[in-house]
Amino acid sequence: MIIAMGVPGAGKTTVLKGLKGDYKVVNYGDLMLEIEKKEYGIKDRDEMRLLPIEKQKHAQKLVAEALAKMPHKTILDTHCSISTPSGYYPGVPFEFLKLWKVDVLVYITADAPELEARRKNDPTRVRDNDDIALHDQMNKSYLAAYSAFSGAPAVIIYNRNGKLEESVAKFQALLK
Ligand code: ATP
Ligand code: MG
Repeated sequence: MIIAMGVPGAGKTTVLKGLKGDYKVVNYGDLMLEIEKKEYGIKDRDEMRLLPIEKQKHAQKLVAEALAKMPHKTILDTHCSISTPSGYYPGVPFEFLKLWKVDVLVYITADAPELEARRKNDPTRVRDNDDIALHDQMNKSYLAAYSAFSGAPAVIIYNRNGKLEESVAKFQALLK
């Protein structure tokens, strides 16, 4: 499995859409949303992070177990850490990471002002405007921890404004 991570609005989903090949892209948030809609009655994905942590963790665990059964050629679109009103929490806790065979951890990012502008200009989503630079810094710490724990290499891709094709090409080169 390849895990793609980054702060909200970094461009994960957009970059993954540009990839060619027989990898199946799975969005962790979409899978969690299905569960949270059924169990907790929430309506859209931007409400998810406001649920009590215990409920988020329950849905997160069910998804982790389903992912352990996914075929080898899966790309997981997810978050390194989630910024919630009660603090940052890991997107990929070790107890889940150990269930999966991870080939590479890919972190997609850009400079904070670009990320901020992207969030503001994306009408399809309601993203928080928390401290993006701090969240990005926290994420890189989580990324290093995931790499050390799993033994999988960490790759950082700068998805610069207007340079989407370059980002896609860098990601594509990781698919073998
Ligand atoms: P989330 O974690 O919230 O799902 P994401 O990382 O998947 O966010 P996207 O939805 O892929 O982010 O992208 C956020 C916005 O940024 C979109 O409007 C997308 O079109 C735009 N975007 C992505 N990459 C670039 C780029 N290189 N240059 C300009 N705009 C970009
Ligand atoms: Mg996305």
